[in-house]
Amino acid sequence: MQLLTGMQPRLFELTEAQQLVRDTARNYAQKRLAPIAGQLDRERRFPAEQLAGLAELGMMGVNIAEEYGGAQAGAVAYALAMMEIAQGCASTAVTMAVNNLVAETIARHGTEAQKRRYVPEITSGRYVAASFGLSEPHAGSDAAALRTTARRDGNEYVINGSKQWITSGDRAGVIIVWARTGVEGNRGISCFLVEGGTKGLHVGRHEDKMGLRASSTVSLSFEDLRVPASAMLGPEGRGFPIALGALDSGRVGIACQAIGIGTAALDSAVRYAKDRHTFGQPIANYQAIRFALADVATELDAARLLALRAAALKEAGKSFTREGAMAKVFATEKANKACDTAVQVHGGYGYIDEFPAERHYRDARITTIYEGSSEIMRIVIGRYLLAH
Ligand SMILES: Cc1cc2nc3c(=O)[nH]c(=O)nc-3n(C[C@H](O)[C@H](O)[C@H](O)COP(=O)(O)OP(=O)(O)OC[C@H]3O[C@@H](n4cnc5c(N)ncnc54)[C@H](O)[C@@H]3O)c2cc1C
Repeated sequence: MQLLTGMQPRLFELTEAQQLVRDTARNYAQKRLAPIAGQLDRERRFPAEQLAGLAELGMMGVNIAEEYGGAQAGAVAYALAMMEIAQGCASTAVTMAVNNLVAETIARHGTEAQKRRYVPEITSGRYVAASFGLSEPHAGSDAAALRTTARRDGNEYVINGSKQWITSGDRAGVIIVWARTGVEGNRGISCFLVEGGTKGLHVGRHEDKMGLRASSTVSLSFEDLRVPASAMLGPEGRGFPIALGALDSGRVGIACQAIGIGTAALDSAVRYAKDRHTFGQPIANYQAIRFALADVATELDAARLLALRAAALKEAGKSFTREGAMAKVFATEKANKACDTAVQVHGGYGYIDEFPAERHYRDARITTIYEGSSEIMRIVIGRYLLAH
């Protein structure tokens, strides 16, 4: 199998623009996010101020055209930025990831009026957040089983139903809501742009999560919520392909988020290993510790290459479904391993919140689950493997 399909030489040599985006993100992450990430987590405080700072730096529309307020720096630059921001604060990173995902989805599928109305609000930070409303209480991996309905009534649609696990759903200026307008299965699904505060939109339970505690995850319900027919994103009945395309991109973003978390865990483990003495010497001197850290560093580097390959394919306008799935399953599982190793290297101190290792461990855990679980990623990869 040709594993390097579509590989761009510049994958290994970043352009000046990509370096600038990466360095800008790194600087912000290390100075403004890493020092307070632990506090935000403990206080479960939504990082509104930090997101505004990131919007000012162009991080809410890294891969969005300038005419809609984006940085127009491309998918590779976005991947690099996401790794850096996640290294600083995983909760801020997931919120940024969803904002970029929603902005890109509207920019890709929206009418000119929809793009002008919503995309600059997200990229500028005037909307503190935007949401992606696909999952429902009974439909996560099997998103096509969603039950929310949208019924045409004259020049409007009336939406009823509920959504589960919606990142920033209580803060969003705009939410992409997938709802059933026709037959059962994936052909009867359309998507709509619903503005925050619309009558009939109710914010439910704020989930008390294991990790990413400074991000907001809520359930939403729609009770005879009316939107104009012009709020439909893309053609009627074509909402599911829009979701799948968006998830392909989102998965590369989550791979990068995981790499950022794993790298932060590795950094803290290396620092600790040099500092902590047992039996009269730093634990970094022991081969058992060095080998564990070496494996983690190697795996995270491999994950980085997979994620950048998927991003480069996306930027080149080529298919990246398989490569995105490979990047996500590998990066997220290796990031979890990195965090586990970091806790182990810290010994008992890895288990308490005096050190960031336990937060990284909790933050990394979700990455193998959301935006397509590891099992679903393997189904996607297996499908390609057996079809060709
Ligand atoms: C913190 C957080 C934030 C989230 N943010 C959003 C958001 O902003 N927008 C949104 O729409 N959703 C969001 N989600 C939802 C997330 O994408 C889903 O949780 C995820 O897709 C899994 O769905 P599920 O939880 O229903 O699990 P299920 O689909 O019920 O899966 C349960 C288990 O079964 C496995 N499984 C399912 N089907 C198969 C199969 N065919 N073969 C093998 N194994 C299978 C899964 O991999 C998993 O291990 C978020 C979730 C969390 C926890």
